[in-house]
Order: sequence, then structure tokens, then C-alpha cells
Amino acid sequence: MSGEEASAPSNFIRSIIESDIGNGKHQGRVATRFPPEPNGYLHIGHAKSICLNFGIARDYHGTCNLRFDDTNPHKENIEYVESIKEDVRWLGYDWEDRLFYASDYFEQLYGFAVELIEAGNAYVCDLTAEQIREYRGTLTEPGRESPFRNRTASENRELFRRMRAGEFEDGSRVLRAKIDMASPNMNMRDPTLYRIRHGVIHHQTGEAWCIYPMYDFTHPVSDALEGITHSICTLEFEDHRPLYDWVLDHVPVPCHPQQIEFSRLNLEYTVMSKRKLTELVSEGHVEGWNDPRMPTIAGIRRRGYTPASIRDFSSRIGVSKSENIVEMGVLENCIREDLNVSARRRMAVLHPLKVVITNYPDGQLEHLAVANHPQDDTMGQRTLSFTGELYIDKNDFREEATKKFKRLVSGGEVRLRNAYVIRCDEVIRDESGEVIELHCTYDPATLGANPEGRKVKGVIHWVSAQLGKRAEVRLYDRLFTQPRPDVAGSHADYREFLNPDSLLTLTECIVEPALAEAAPGECFQFEREGYFCVDENLSTPELPVFNRTVTLRDSWAKIEQQQAG
Ligand code: ATP
Ligand code: MG
Repeated sequence: MSGEEASAPSNFIRSIIESDIGNGKHQGRVATRFPPEPNGYLHIGHAKSICLNFGIARDYHGTCNLRFDDTNPHKENIEYVESIKEDVRWLGYDWEDRLFYASDYFEQLYGFAVELIEAGNAYVCDLTAEQIREYRGTLTEPGRESPFRNRTASENRELFRRMRAGEFEDGSRVLRAKIDMASPNMNMRDPTLYRIRHGVIHHQTGEAWCIYPMYDFTHPVSDALEGITHSICTLEFEDHRPLYDWVLDHVPVPCHPQQIEFSRLNLEYTVMSKRKLTELVSEGHVEGWNDPRMPTIAGIRRRGYTPASIRDFSSRIGVSKSENIVEMGVLENCIREDLNVSARRRMAVLHPLKVVITNYPDGQLEHLAVANHPQDDTMGQRTLSFTGELYIDKNDFREEATKKFKRLVSGGEVRLRNAYVIRCDEVIRDESGEVIELHCTYDPATLGANPEGRKVKGVIHWVSAQLGKRAEVRLYDRLFTQPRPDVAGSHADYREFLNPDSLLTLTECIVEPALAEAAPGECFQFEREGYFCVDENLSTPELPVFNRTVTLRDSWAKIEQQQAG
């Protein structure tokens, strides 16, 4: 990542850290971690957490660990582990030699559990899952103590050893912390610390274990063993903080990190829960985890977003404790602003309409040197080929139109961008009456010069018919039609709000020859159309495929205004 990037704006977490450094807490050391569970691909919400944790480490000369929270092997796999590493790296962050797995600590966690047992702070409980729920009570009623709560330490130690040895069935027993069944905080009513899971092969530990520690036990211990100072997580863990602290107060770990919660990122017109994202993939609503319509980092990357634009987005949305939902336009503006500066300009005709220039000398070909970027000479030039047959976009021609239509009309003139002014003399149709070709004349005196004695306002883009290359262009729109698909309509399923028009594939586009050699991932502005990148999966030298990253302007803002008005 570029060293020049400004540090993020301050927020309440940074204030806590600055005050801790000032007070010499943890000897002024700052250590954070990003702890994903490898049960899916990362999404833009995770990007917020990554930028926050790694950004703090960078700005306070601390460290940030990447730690896989891998305690649910039946939902996890190595493909997810690899994708997460790739995404964090792509965002521009480096965990150096600090890649950890919670499963690295399974043996230590087991030892700490035994110590809890010895000290009378944990017990093996034979209630079924159903009974445990029943005994837990409700928010208004205290729970009841398990009949197994007062087993002796030696009995518990022996049963826990046999749990590990695989002597008991899944669900027949658990290890629970012995805290307080009357606590107003449900998480403190003797929470489960370990459960039995046979027959799963863990991606890191294989078949070494048939008991797995729960998140609420694993997380504080992993943080403490790694010497984390500030354990930053999302608000749903606020009620778990007393348990986080209880665990650290009852096991002999070297340090006691502080858990700090912030509100998660929600984004309009998409869903962010891993369960729902998994369903979108497994049920075939999208083409995979990296479908450019997905809010996953892999999807956003394939769509053409840059790491800098995502970091910029994270910094703009800020960090707080209040629930909010961010407009898609905020994310889109970040990439628009980035690509406006960095993307080279090209011409591409998405809906081709043939133009024959009847007064252009037969067989003539002109090379026109044109800037790659109108405001940035350092990006150099490319050569456009002007020929007697061209394509323009169907939408740029109308037989008749009001004065507002500044493009080509029958009998009217328009400027071809970077080239000449042409006049439409004749409209050619097929049997069904559809316009298939325009016969035009060009004014040879208008290359880089205004026409004599008249004003031509409109400018349209074009590509040489002889030299242009065919390409596929994929136009993406919002994946959902509702800003909040998961809560829209009280009985509705979020899938009912999938946008049927979220992908429009145009297979007959014509692009300027320079685009045929573009490498996968390269981004361009197609003049007057938007920002596009070469698809890294589908593009071939024979048929380049471009994804529309974002339109030139926010057309949704207008639609929403109209709906509201
Ligand atoms: P699930 O959707 O199953 O609850 P998760 O999104 O919490 O899973 P994790 O892998 O546990 O997935 O998340 C890793 C880290 O990213 C956690 O610290 C979590 O708090 C943070 N995180 C997850 N979603 C968001 C979000 N939308 N905004 C900000 N941070 C998030
Ligand atoms: Mg989680």
C-alpha cells in the first residue's frame, strides 16, 4: 500500500487507544487482530473491519494479526482460508509472520478448560441441547441449575477426558462454565465451552479432535495468547463482553485485552450475512462468490474496484456505535473518483449502428493521435483509426427529436469525438422497418476545428467498422430491488427482491482496437458510458469481456428522488 495515504479520521476507538498509549497501558503497545471464520468469502463489511484493525496497527506503530477463528469445522474449508488471505493482501495489508489459527491453541485451550474444572469453574453437563435451552430461563425469568452442576472436580476431569477420547456421542454432553444461572445476562448462565463433534475432518487439525471449543471461550484465550491489546469486534458481541472478561479472569493467561465494539457496516441493495451470501451462491442466483454483483471482496475486485477505493470507502463511512445503513452511492462514488483520475479513456460502442461516410475517399485510413486522459498528459496517447465505415451507438441517433437531443438526427450534424463533424443524409432500414445503417457525409475541414458558419453542439463516440474489435460487455446493476432486502416486507424472503435485471450481457459490442490487448483486471473509462474493466475469468484474446464497474453518474439517486417526489 502507498505510504502517502493519510491516516484514517479519528473515532472513539482511536481515542481509547491514544489514551491507553498515554497512560502506558500494555507498556504503550498496540496489537490488534482480524479474526474471520473461514466459512465463506469476505465481504465489504469485513473490509471495514480489516481497514480498521490494520489501519490502527499502522498508525500507532503496532501489529495486526490475521487469525482464523476455526472452531466450526463442519462449515469451514481451505478454499475460504485461501480466499481470505488473498483478499486481505489485495486490500493492501500485511500480517507478516503473524498468521494464526484458533486451532493452533486447541491443546492450550484444553489445558485451560481442565484448570477451570480443577478450580470448580466448569462442569460436564449431560442435559440435551433442548433441556439446556429450557433450563436457561428467559430475559424475565432466571434459569435453573443443571442437575450435573455440582459434580466433583475429579468426576468432571474424568468425563472431560473421555469426551476428548471420543467415548461419547455428539450432543450427549458438553462442558459448561459454572457462572450464574440467575444472571440478567443470558450469556453468563453457565455457557457452553466445549461440544462433541465426530466425523468432521478439520482443515487444519484433521481428525485429531472430536471436541471443539466454543467461540466465547476460544476468542478471549486466543487474543490473550497473542498479546492482543485491543480486541475490536462488532456490536452483537457487546453482551458477550462480561463472558470475555470472565474467561480471562479465570484462566492463567499473560494479558487481558480490552474488547471494544463498533457497529457493523450495512449497505443498501445488498445482503451481508454469510448465510445469505452462501445461499445466493449455492442456489445459483449468482455465478459464484466472485460474481461482480456480490458484495464480496472477490466480487467487488472482479467488478473493477481498486483496493484504494475500498480503503477510501472505509475511511469515509467512519466508525461508531450507532446502527446505520450506507447508501450504495457512497461506495460507487469512491471508485468513480479513483477511476476518474487513474483510468485511461477509450471508445466502445455498446449498441452498434453502422455509419457509411459516402464522401470519404475509398480505402482511406487516417491515424489520429488522441490523449489517453484529457487531464493527464503523462498517460500518453493512443492511435485511433478513422475509416469510411464506422459504428456509433443506436441510442445516439433519432430520426426526429426535440432540441434537447444533442446527438445525431436525420438531416442534422454531430461531432464524432476526436474526429470530424458528420451529417446524416439517409436512413437505411431492413424489411421490418428497423434502422440498420446511416449514410452520412463528413466535413473534412472539421478535424480539430469548428465548422464554418454554424454551431455543432453534440459529440458522440464511434469506432471504426473495419478495425474495431468485437467484445462482450456486461452491465451490472443492483442485485436487489429493495434498499433493505432482508427486512423489506415482514413475511417476505430476501430472495423475492432479487433484481431480475441485475445483469445485462451485450455480446455484439465494438471497441477500439487498443482495447483488444487490454490485460485482465485493467480498467478504462469508455467515454460517455462509464468505467469498465477486463473480466479476469471470462475474457479471451478472441473475445474480450468487459465488466461495467460503475456508471459515470449516479442514476439511482435520480430514480430514488423521483420515487420519493
Ligand atoms: P456471520 O455473518 O456468520 O455472523 P461474520 O460476518 O461475523 O459472520 P466473521 O468471520 O466472524 O464473520 O467476521 C470477522 C470479523 O469481521 C469480525 O470481527 C466481525 O465482527 C467483522 N465483521 C463482520 N461483518 C461485519 C460488518 N458488516 N461490518 C463490520 N465488521 C464486520
Ligand atoms: Mg462472526
